[in-house]
Formats: sequence, C-alpha cells, structure tokens
Amino acid sequence: KTVLRLDDVRKSFGNTQVLRGISFDIHQHEVVALLGPSGSGKSTLMKCVNLLEQVDDGQIWLGNTDITDPRADQDKIRARIGVVFQQFNLFPHMSVLRNVTLAAIKVHHWSKDRAETRAMELLERIGMRDKASAYPDQLSGGQQQRVAIARALMTDPELLLLDEITSALDPMLVGEVLNMVAELKAQGTTILMATHEMSFAHEAADRIVLLRHGVIAENGTPAEVMDES
Ligand code: ADP
Ligand code: ADP
Repeated sequence: KTVLRLDDVRKSFGNTQVLRGISFDIHQHEVVALLGPSGSGKSTLMKCVNLLEQVDDGQIWLGNTDITDPRADQDKIRARIGVVFQQFNLFPHMSVLRNVTLAAIKVHHWSKDRAETRAMELLERIGMRDKASAYPDQLSGGQQQRVAIARALMTDPELLLLDEITSALDPMLVGEVLNMVAELKAQGTTILMATHEMSFAHEAADRIVLLRHGVIAENGTPAEVMDES
C-alpha cells in the first residue's frame, strides 16, 4: 500500500529551480531517509509535503488524496500527516499536556477529554507521563523533542515527517531521540525523515532517497546507496 507518492514535483523560488522533477513512493510501514547536501532541496520538499509550500508542478498523493489540489481540505490533510521540526516549537507558557493536546482541540475539534486521554497514552508510551504538567523549559532538548513527536502522533497520522529533528540537539541527547524513532519504526509507523545522521539513516531507514541539486541522485536501500556514494 502506497502512503505517499510524489510525481514529478517541481518548485522554484524566483529563477532558482529548487526541486526539478522529484518522483518517489513511500509504502506503509516504510522508513525513508531523505539525505543530501545543504541546499539540495530537502527542506523545501518536506514543506511541500506538509503544505507549507505550494508545488509549481507535479502531484503529491497521500493515499488517494492529491494534496496539491487547491480544493483539498487542508485541515483534514494535516490531521493525516504528523510533523516534527528541527526546533521543538513547544509553547513555553503551556504545560506538556496542553502543548500535546492543543492542535487536536483547536484545529481538529476534539473534546478536551478525548484529547487528554490520547495525550496521556502517548506520553506513557514515550516514558514521559510524569512530565505531563511540566513546562518545556523544565525538560532537556531531547525530552522536548519527544514531546513534539507525541504531539505529532495525536491524530494517528498515516505519515510522520521528521525534519532534521536532531540537528538542534546536544550530541549527548541525539541518542534518545533516535531510539524513539527506532521504536516508532518497530511499531509500524510510516516515516519520511530528512536527516544528517548518516549512520542512523543507514541503521534505521528501509530506503534512502539522496537529493542533489533538486533531483534524486540515488533511491535505494542503505547498502545500495552507501556503496555507490
Ligand atoms: P536543504 O534543506 O537541502 O538545505 P533547502 O530546501 O532549504 O535545502 O534549500 C534549497 C535551495 O532553495 C537553496 O538554494 C535555498 O537558498 C533555496 N530556498 C529555500 N527556501 C527559499 C525561499 N523561501 N526563498 C528563496 N529561496 C529559497
Ligand atoms: P540541547 O542541547 O538539546 O538544546 P538543553 O539546552 O535543553 O539541550 O540542555 C543542555 C544541557 O542541560 C543538557 O545536557 C541537558 O541534559 C541539561 N538539561 C536541560 N534541561 C534539564 C533539566 N530540566 N533537568 C536536567 N538537565 C537538564
């Protein structure tokens, strides 16, 4: 089953062609790592999938929904894609529980009860149930990033996008976040992650898509891609 399909996606900023015909699929339960040098278009690609940027040409399919169709319901699509960014983006004046439940309540119109029950389940799963009433500045960077992952999983999304989620972390804290990604993979979560952690991509990804100057230079298993590059 195909969860995400990019079909000849193109995107320019002014005269700069940043994505020049990107096509690849992600299947259910697959973890795909998006690698490539700085400036190769990783972040732009992630933003197109996340509806933060509009493509100029081509389609992006989430299941049977063409998410590049301007008539598509964006809030519905956002509930089907969980996103974690490099910066944790937790609201500093809100507790962990409120941070995790906020979008579910405000954007997806869940009841507070339903949202809190689900949030506590997820916090339990990541070993942070006892931090539910803590504030972000009382947590380490790694713990904050795990909270951001829990928030992204609230609506049980079909696809989890992880955009350089370890780049802002102290190297000491990278391991705990990567362990969590490995756990999500073991639970069958479908993931697209842009990362600089080559060794992690090698270990955890089923497939590596390597971007170079806005085109796909390689698309294969870690062994295939690392052998050639
Ligand atoms: P990566 O994530 O691989 O480092 P990006 O997608 O951030 O690559 O950037 C790819 C290219 O697109 C770069 O040359 C960058 O300067 C350019 N770019 C990205 N976003 C914008 C923007 N909003 N306006 C103009 N140029 C942009
Ligand atoms: P990061 O490098 O991820 O941004 P922080 O700036 O959050 O990490 O934390 C810097 C250091 O302080 C880390 O070694 C972290 O373990 C520690 N630290 C941060 N917050 C706490 C906390 N609430 N309790 C204990 N240690 C903490």
